[in-house]
Amino acid sequence: MPLIVQKFGGTSVADAGRIENVAGIISDTYAKGNNVVVVVSAQGDTTDDLIAKAEEINPEASRREMDMLMAAGEQISASLMAMALQRRGVPAVSMLGWQAGVETDSNYSNARIKRIHTERIERELSGNRVVIVAGFQGINKYDDITTLGRGGSDTSAVALAASLHADLCQIYTDVDGVYTADPRICPDAVKLDEITYDEMLELAALGANVLHHRSVELAKKYNVDLEVISSLTKVPGTKVKETVKMEKMLVRGVTRDNDTARIALVGVPDEPGIAFKIFSLIASKKIEVDIILQSIGRDGTKDISFTVHCGDLKTALQLLEENKDRINAKSVTYDDNISKVSIVGAGMATNSGIAAKMFEAMYSAGINIKMINTSEIKVSVLIDRADAEAAVRAVHEAFFPKD
Ligand code: ASP
Ligand code: MG
Repeated sequence: MPLIVQKFGGTSVADAGRIENVAGIISDTYAKGNNVVVVVSAQGDTTDDLIAKAEEINPEASRREMDMLMAAGEQISASLMAMALQRRGVPAVSMLGWQAGVETDSNYSNARIKRIHTERIERELSGNRVVIVAGFQGINKYDDITTLGRGGSDTSAVALAASLHADLCQIYTDVDGVYTADPRICPDAVKLDEITYDEMLELAALGANVLHHRSVELAKKYNVDLEVISSLTKVPGTKVKETVKMEKMLVRGVTRDNDTARIALVGVPDEPGIAFKIFSLIASKKIEVDIILQSIGRDGTKDISFTVHCGDLKTALQLLEENKDRINAKSVTYDDNISKVSIVGAGMATNSGIAAKMFEAMYSAGINIKMINTSEIKVSVLIDRADAEAAVRAVHEAFFPKD
């Protein structure tokens, strides 16, 4: 029997009506003769609401207790979903992460799945039951509950699909697939039929809020056939896989990411070891650095600037302040009113005109570029946040002209 893993996000299970709707999708899949493993997220804003409750009681709550709290949301969805299926006469059983054998490391609130002990799930499947697993959670070696980072239910689903050798992993959400740009910013955006793992990884990292980044990493590593699809409409979604028909499309999507801030160290000594000092300091606090730019040295000094996530800005600035004698910058400035706009496409690696075309579109829209970063399959620019949406539209129009 084919095995399908279906994951339903928070909006897809937000209330009784939505749960009924999803139960319909699951029972159809089951009735067609598939084994079905379902992964659910917490209903609607439940996880945010739980976090708000913790903040009222103790803003400094330990991450262990936060995980204990946050994991509760998925428990509710899983049991309700099993009840909805049972009422329809579909045999179903709900499980928490630990019951489903999801073993993680002990990095509370951002744990990684180490392995999944699938015996229990397999037993239930061979008894012809639909297995509903609470997403986003697991258990560590101390028998503590852990969670996988916000949006982590996608990763639960892909990890289960990989461990169970599922034939397909469907991620049901409130959008009907992956678009060439966020349709809320760019009404001309079109849905992609397929996209490669690598492109999806870049899009996920660069601000397309469709899939949890780690879920795509896992899908690529274990070659899981993945599909992003809407639970609300009956249209085909987007397939994520190793290779896709290249078509004429060199660029697959345009993204905007507001979670970026730039730090500039002006006038640091132009001597060996400076970059090492700065970035080993930053790394010591596990702060992720994205774009790095160093100017040409003049009069014995140079400038180094780099970007971090907004949430890390304060810590990074503090760190630089505490170590200013070692770094010796004339001044340290920052800008958190910026956005990163990127284009992604596996086809651009061999096409040198792509970056120029992007820059031309920005220039025509009168938008100033502050920093540039490229890789084989992406070009990112840093611009004023006020220009970000106009930039997405201009760049999208350049690569996906309306005709
Ligand atoms: N409920 C968790 C969150 O909101 C996990 C998820 O939705 O995937 O982050
Ligand atoms: Mg959620």
